[in-house]
Amino acid sequence: MLRECNLNNAMTRKKGLTIITGPSGVGKGTLVKKLLDDSENMWLSISATTRTPREGEEDGKDYFFLTEKNFKNLIENDGFIEWAEFAGNFYGTPRDAVEKKLANGKNVLLEIELEGARQVRKTFPEGFQIFLAPPSLKELEKRIRGRATDSEEAILKRLERAKEEVKAQSEFDAVIINDNLDIALSEIKQIVGE
Ligand code: 5GP
Repeated sequence: MLRECNLNNAMTRKKGLTIITGPSGVGKGTLVKKLLDDSENMWLSISATTRTPREGEEDGKDYFFLTEKNFKNLIENDGFIEWAEFAGNFYGTPRDAVEKKLANGKNVLLEIELEGARQVRKTFPEGFQIFLAPPSLKELEKRIRGRATDSEEAILKRLERAKEEVKAQSEFDAVIINDNLDIALSEIKQIVGE
């Protein structure tokens, strides 16, 4: 379900930078994967993080897993377009790759949390920002707990943050409610023009 969408902007937008934000557990990862499978000219930025890899995650594919020292070095050397602390770990978008892809005419997708999206809004105002919202906070908690990959402490931190993120959804160019994956996917495709 598409809500609060600036339709003129959305419908005429065919390339460039798209940012997808939404609370942990809302299904961003699944949706982004499907979007990439179906898209020819879309490239997903691989973020750097200090978080420990989850089972099955690969360095350089899911994330660049960095030590805090290396992450901070990159911050100092202006190596990130944006970065933020989230639930006790750092996350950031490496600058070089994104700038190169955009220069080569690729459609670039960032899947990042709220603070990062706010930074990108200032530095890349032409970027289109989509908020992926859960049908309800109750449903979100069910999904986060169902994933069973995080400790109780991490789950609680993520739920707290989710409430803050959901409150900020009106800052975004479009809000898509992820209650049906196929519908949400077709709405995103309509926006990014792929
Ligand atoms: P997770 O630990 O579940 O993989 O990610 C936690 C949160 O960090 C998610 O909301 C995800 O979108 C966000 N995230 C992933 N990469 C980045 C990044 O490069 N920058 C920012 N600001 N957030 C990110």
